[in-house]
Amino acid sequence: MHFDNHEIALLDNFLIDVEKSSLSGLSTMEDLWMIADAESKMLIEEILQLNPLDFEFKGKKIKEESIPDDVVAIDNSKYAQDGEYALFKKSYLPRPVYAAFSKMGEEFTKSYPSRVLLVGSGYRSPASQVVTLVYILAKIYNFDINKTLKRVALPQYSTHSSVSETAIDVMNVDGEPKDEDSLAFKDSVEYEWLKDHANNFDFYESYPPNNPDGIMWEPWHWQYKSN
Ligand SMILES: [Zn+2]
Repeated sequence: MHFDNHEIALLDNFLIDVEKSSLSGLSTMEDLWMIADAESKMLIEEILQLNPLDFEFKGKKIKEESIPDDVVAIDNSKYAQDGEYALFKKSYLPRPVYAAFSKMGEEFTKSYPSRVLLVGSGYRSPASQVVTLVYILAKIYNFDINKTLKRVALPQYSTHSSVSETAIDVMNVDGEPKDEDSLAFKDSVEYEWLKDHANNFDFYESYPPNNPDGIMWEPWHWQYKSN
């Protein structure tokens, strides 16, 4: 799939409209289509029809779950920068996932008293996953869909859209991972610590190097799994 100038303008304008809107990580597809004009909607639907296997994405579809009611809103905006995490002002986590993450964060801060584990991105409804995908396509990969789908999953495949097993993109107080060099997060003390301790809190690194899902190494992406 290749985007011409007109389509690029449509998606750029769509992102501007998102920014002006009150869309959040809890928004529905109906909310999303309210702010997209007919042409952008068609184009975005075309992207959503893509088969991830054509892009070497081998992740499984997640269980379909409705947007959760019992969530905790997290406002990390004072750390957020221009970029991915400025997309939505707040992050949301289902309450049990929040509880586990908080416990883990407290433990981390005992080892590193001047640092905290932040939530760069938590639960994302399918609609907000669509926004994230368009954002990464436009702003990070310059409309290269092949690269984009190595970094961000289509909505039915995103572990950020799982309610019972939500993935969290961890951010540190230095605002890492940063868009321009996200992989540098692998050298952070946060990543070192998470590798040794996150499993004790039921969080798992979803996309280590050479993962079977065919996704790039994402040292910041930790999925909650309780069982
Ligand atoms: Zn993630």
